[in-house]
Amino acid sequence: MARYTDAVCRLCRREGMKLFLKGARCYTKKCAFERRATPPGQHGVRRRKMSEFGVQLREKQKIRRVYSVMERQFKGYFDEAESRPGVTGENLLRLLETRLDNVVFRMGFSSSRAQARQLVAHGHFAVNGRTATIASMQLHPGDRVEVRESHRDREPFKLARETMRSASVPEWLSVDAADLRGTVAAAPRRDQMPADLNEHLVVEYYSR
Ligand code: SF4
Repeated sequence: MARYTDAVCRLCRREGMKLFLKGARCYTKKCAFERRATPPGQHGVRRRKMSEFGVQLREKQKIRRVYSVMERQFKGYFDEAESRPGVTGENLLRLLETRLDNVVFRMGFSSSRAQARQLVAHGHFAVNGRTATIASMQLHPGDRVEVRESHRDREPFKLARETMRSASVPEWLSVDAADLRGTVAAAPRRDQMPADLNEHLVVEYYSR
């Protein structure tokens, strides 16, 4: 599974906003974006007027980076979104939101998607009673996600019990923090997905 291994704070500086890729650190003064919000590199501080294409490209890159998806896989999601009935951009966001690693993160089991992906890959979770290790696994309404019985006393989940209680879980998910489990109650609607992502620009980018 290919993944981005370089410094992730550069990505926030490149996209000009906090993408919250590092979990708890993102909420502290140590956040690199708080200290230096300019794009990385020697010419980062230069002001440049962005073309229409540049705006579309940056939005595509931003959404891809928020969900930690590589280029080819992201294009695959777009093609899938386009082939489904409904609004392509919304379908795209819905496919990304219902990935197993994102659901684990949204339920409050982890402080970042990167951590969620690692926890999934290490076999800590079961979906509908079966061990699931594929972070990109698509979940559907009714699917049950839980920490496997034999893994519940492990360190990350002692902490997760506390964070899950205080986490603000989106309405399309329901969570039982005491039992370290949750359910996908429904497919997310557009108003239940991040408002700061502009999926229309991604559709325009791929429609050139
Ligand atoms: Fe982005 Fe988090 Fe790094 Fe801040 S600490 S720059 S929000 S990844």
